[in-house]
Amino acid sequence: MVLSKTNSQSDASIHSTFGSRYVRDALPRFKIPENSIPKEAAFQIINDELMLDGNPRLNLASFVTTWMEPECDKLIMDSINKNYVDMDEYPVTTELQNRCVNMIAHLFNAPLGDGETACGVGTVGSSEAIMLAGLAFKRKWQNKMKALGKPYDKPNIVTGANVQVCWEKFARYFEVELKEVKLSDGYYVMDPEKAVDLVDENTICVAAILGSTLNGEFEDVKRLNDLLVEKNKETGWDTPIHVDAASGGFIAPFLYPELEWDFRLPLVKSINVSGHKYGLVYAGIGWAIWRNKEDLPDELIFHINYLGADQPTFTLNFSKGSSQVIAQYYQLIRLGHEGYRNIMENCQENAMVLREGLEKTGRFNIVSKDHGVPLVAFSLKDHSQHNEFEISGMLRRFGWIVPAYTMPPDAQHVTVLRVVIREDFSRTLAERLVIDIQTVLRELDLIPAMVTEKLGAGETEETHRAVIKKTTLEVQREITSAWRKMVSEKKKTNGIC
Ligand SMILES: *Cc1c(COP(=O)(O)O)cnc(C)c1O
Repeated sequence: MVLSKTNSQSDASIHSTFGSRYVRDALPRFKIPENSIPKEAAFQIINDELMLDGNPRLNLASFVTTWMEPECDKLIMDSINKNYVDMDEYPVTTELQNRCVNMIAHLFNAPLGDGETACGVGTVGSSEAIMLAGLAFKRKWQNKMKALGKPYDKPNIVTGANVQVCWEKFARYFEVELKEVKLSDGYYVMDPEKAVDLVDENTICVAAILGSTLNGEFEDVKRLNDLLVEKNKETGWDTPIHVDAASGGFIAPFLYPELEWDFRLPLVKSINVSGHKYGLVYAGIGWAIWRNKEDLPDELIFHINYLGADQPTFTLNFSKGSSQVIAQYYQLIRLGHEGYRNIMENCQENAMVLREGLEKTGRFNIVSKDHGVPLVAFSLKDHSQHNEFEISGMLRRFGWIVPAYTMPPDAQHVTVLRVVIREDFSRTLAERLVIDIQTVLRELDLIPAMVTEKLGAGETEETHRAVIKKTTLEVQREITSAWRKMVSEKKKTNGIC
């Protein structure tokens, strides 16, 4: 009689995960499995597959925060099981969100009297904030047109062609025509004059971007405001402005306090900002702030009371986590103006180090401006041999994730590489990146030779002859057009963030 089985299938807990059958079975992909598996095995298998994701800290594609202090990580983990919407059950969390709204509204110079509370809401990110702000404009415009006895079925919104994909979403989901100001070579943001030309009686608002996603440049909101004030005077309309300050909202107040882009300008009625970008919180928080309560139509606010007291809400989602709200409050009080200013200045310094390093190679044109969101966007001076997509691909080998993408219509022949400088991208990393880019350039310079060499080995006579008929230039063109095709197909779905 056998007393113990060495290869027990049932008592998995005595085996190491790698000694168990779970690492031998293919994991289900489509259907929930019939049976349970031990927690150790589930953890190990998922953890190991996730190793193949990129390293978030080396993901230079994104503005979104990838590092926070351990103390804040602890607050986040401690509140991971709190549903934000249970406001009556978690009144302190609600109070913290209100404090954040007030602090951010003051940061944006909302015209608030002493002790007056600000009008705003925490969201999942800028996208939700933009949907809400857009809805408020649409409803206000509709109410006005109805009162005037005019048609109110063809609202439009004016933006630059450089807008982030969430504006296209807003336009499509909420049936508002998007009127885009075309970009031109060397000018990659919305031209205020052209924008105001596009404004008509059906324009619900003009949306300006503080920190264009493509090259970090701030749009000239003051000029837009001044031109629009004039136009409104001439026409009798009252077209307002929204500022999409997703990335710039936590930069401009600290680096350029004199720059007038916010509620100091009378036509700016609402502003969105991503708490999870330069607000320095992990993904999952944004803010929509209105100038006054009158700028947010009452009928959009829902009052829920079945979880306790009456709670006004204006969000698209019902349930969500509380951690990000708490984390935002942590950053605001922990860093203060001083801390945010120091961090933003460091980011800007490190952007300069990177920019100078890239300029020194002599191979790139810098497309980003020194003024704006700390990022460096650059393109190759010479495309005859290689393109930006190849550089992006080869940098992956070092762990760096640096996106390459083409510019929007009327500038789409320009391809750029973009490195976003976040808080956790220190000078050492900036210098390291320059060294690795130099290595990539050197390797790329050798590639035509490598292609011919590779053809010599292992190919049959026929294919060999057929292949070498293609000149290096032809191969290059093919690679470029394949990349272009891939990018244009992916463009609308994976919009850089
Ligand atoms: C990132 C970004 C958005 C979208 O913000 P999320 O917080 O990711 O939803 C919108 N507009 C601009 C200008 C952005 O940079």
